[in-house]
Amino acid sequence: MTPEPDRLVDSFGRVHNNLRISVTDRCNIRCVYCMPEQVEFLPRAQLLSFEEIERFVRIAVTLGIDKVRLTGGEPLVRRDLVKLIEKLTRIPGLKDIGLTTNGMLLAPVAQALWDAGLRRINVSLDTMDAARFQQLTRRTGFEQVIEGILAAKAAGFDPVKLNAVAIRGTTEADVVPLAQFARQHRLELRFIEYMPLDAGHQWERAKVLFAAEILELLTLGIGPLRPVADQDPRAPALDYEYHDGGGRVGFIASISRPFCMSCNRLRLTSDGKLRHCLFALEETDLRALLRGGASDAAIAGAVRDCVAAKWEGHEINTARFIQPERLMHAIGG
Ligand code: SAM
Ligand code: SF4
Repeated sequence: MTPEPDRLVDSFGRVHNNLRISVTDRCNIRCVYCMPEQVEFLPRAQLLSFEEIERFVRIAVTLGIDKVRLTGGEPLVRRDLVKLIEKLTRIPGLKDIGLTTNGMLLAPVAQALWDAGLRRINVSLDTMDAARFQQLTRRTGFEQVIEGILAAKAAGFDPVKLNAVAIRGTTEADVVPLAQFARQHRLELRFIEYMPLDAGHQWERAKVLFAAEILELLTLGIGPLRPVADQDPRAPALDYEYHDGGGRVGFIASISRPFCMSCNRLRLTSDGKLRHCLFALEETDLRALLRGGASDAAIAGAVRDCVAAKWEGHEINTARFIQPERLMHAIGG
């Protein structure tokens, strides 16, 4: 019998089974809420290799991690990402592998991702308007993203989830068109409240479009929704469904309804730093251990220490909040 893995429990009793892995800090677009226009990217040698990521995930699985999501930067700009997915799908005990992408490079590789064993895909799309897409991403490519989403559906991903960042003064006009597109293609739409991880430090609470307001716009523009029964209370998304059977809409209400007390996530940056929170101010240097000849047991010990030091939660809604130096694209959202 396989022994029960040692679980990663922090000092608040939260059990960690979910690891987000950033495979690159590079991106092919420049979303205003995430990246500056000019960025100095990490040199290639500083990124964890696929072998290093695989070794780390094997160790993490012995500690109870059974869910991994690949992110970035833009994960599909990392060459041969499909090969990493193949490696990860072979790890016994890893039950769930997901990918979050901006969709720009998705269409040509959607089938290969599916064939490699990936089953969960989230595509970020904030608008159905090509001009607004360009304003928000500082790049063209709206049609490419739509093609990517449809190619993922055609390859078999079901549901394809859409992530839209909710920013006051911008997103209001996109709520209903995004919902219509999602309903038409049976995609699962999720709104993520805008968080303070932007390059220009432009974030203010007043710029967040709250979940409750979006729900109201959807009710008025599309029709009534109700909370989905039997939601996993640990999941960050609050899920609603349309009364008419037109699918679901989720909300990641990090600002208006923080879910820190049920957080089960750890994050590995592309340069091998482990973070216990998106907003953490401290990191554990796993790359130094991975490259310095550390044993699996020593690496597992470092992960346990990182979890043990996890704070109660972010303090975005207080004057004490300090924005981490790392921007969203360098952490991995
Ligand atoms: N490049 C990929 C993408 O855009 O899907 C993966 C990385 S991106 C950092 C992951 C998610 O974080 C995306 O859904 C993006 O919209 C979201 N995001 C980025 N900056 C954000 C912010 N300041 N507030 C809320 N969500 C943000
Ligand atoms: Fe790139 Fe994703 Fe950040 Fe947009 S949100 S700049 S796509 S990493």
